[in-house]
Amino acid sequence: MVNGQPYSIQVAAPLNEFYEALERFGLILLLSAPLLLIGASLGGYWISSRALKPVDEISAAAESISIRNLSDRLQVPKTSDELQRLSETLNRMLGRLNSSVQRMSQFTADASHELRTPLAVVRGIGEAAVAERRSPAEYEEAIGSMLEEVDRMTNLVDTLLRLSHADAGAIRLSRQPVDLGQLARDVAASLALLAEERDQKLTFDTAPGVFVPVDRLVLPEAVTNVLDNAIKYSPARSTVALHVRRVGDQALLAIGDDGPGIPPEYRERIFHRFFRVDEARSRDHGGAGLGLAIAKWAVDMHGGQITVEQRPGGGSEFRILLPLASSVEITDEQNTTQLRMGG
Ligand code: ADP
Repeated sequence: MVNGQPYSIQVAAPLNEFYEALERFGLILLLSAPLLLIGASLGGYWISSRALKPVDEISAAAESISIRNLSDRLQVPKTSDELQRLSETLNRMLGRLNSSVQRMSQFTADASHELRTPLAVVRGIGEAAVAERRSPAEYEEAIGSMLEEVDRMTNLVDTLLRLSHADAGAIRLSRQPVDLGQLARDVAASLALLAEERDQKLTFDTAPGVFVPVDRLVLPEAVTNVLDNAIKYSPARSTVALHVRRVGDQALLAIGDDGPGIPPEYRERIFHRFFRVDEARSRDHGGAGLGLAIAKWAVDMHGGQITVEQRPGGGSEFRILLPLASSVEITDEQNTTQLRMGG
């Protein structure tokens, strides 16, 4: 307002330039958007393929591993992330598979080796028998010797089958509380004839009422094998002593003999399959080195331990420790346990 008079001011400027700039900008945007899109996609693809390259490498390496090269390992990327952990886990799995496969092929090789010996003996006896004319008594003797070897092979094949069932986890326990002292006496009664033949004495010092939750078929196998060895490997007219007592919350069954004992360096290995301290002597007794492997498996199945010590007189004392019935909860009589047999 100037002196009460209103004025209006109009300002004008040409907008063509702005519109043109806007149009150019729109054009640039239109042209560059697809390029940007393509660039972004290519960049994304490059980044993701770089990030996933180790996964590709891991899967290619895993693809190339078969039973023939199970000792090969995947390369572990030092990235401290999931990929490093994945490769390490896969490598550990390969390690486990490798040692299982090695154990299996060792087992097959040992089993074949064990079967070759009696087969060679049968062949030898047969060849000698047919080489020339012999008397009926001689033929009878040859056939008797052959049948002995056949028995030995049958026992071995039965044991091998038992081991492979156990390996396959096909043996299940049906546990019931059993008086360990009574079980030891029952097993001893079944082997009494063997001890009698060798003029040996079996003595018992068994505390009453030491109950253990065991399978009535599987645990006696362990006791039978240990007691059978004690009788086999100790001299005629010696004594084999069986003790049963509580040790803390465990039950102990000890079987001691006056045999040659087991040198300290073999005290773990005697529980391995096919291991024999004195191969010739064990073979004479008909042993294939599997008895203690089965005993250990049976004891392990029951959550126990089996060890061997030297007795003061030099003989061996095998100790089987088992959880007492009171310290193991048995929910029902058919309570089952599964465990693979150790090599
Ligand atoms: P085997 O069938 O040959 O007896 P085991 O597995 O039962 O096989 O025993 C393994 C080896 O341990 C035997 O070959 C023997 O050398 C040794 N051994 C086992 N028990 C005794 C023992 N009571 N005294 C001395 N040596 C033993």
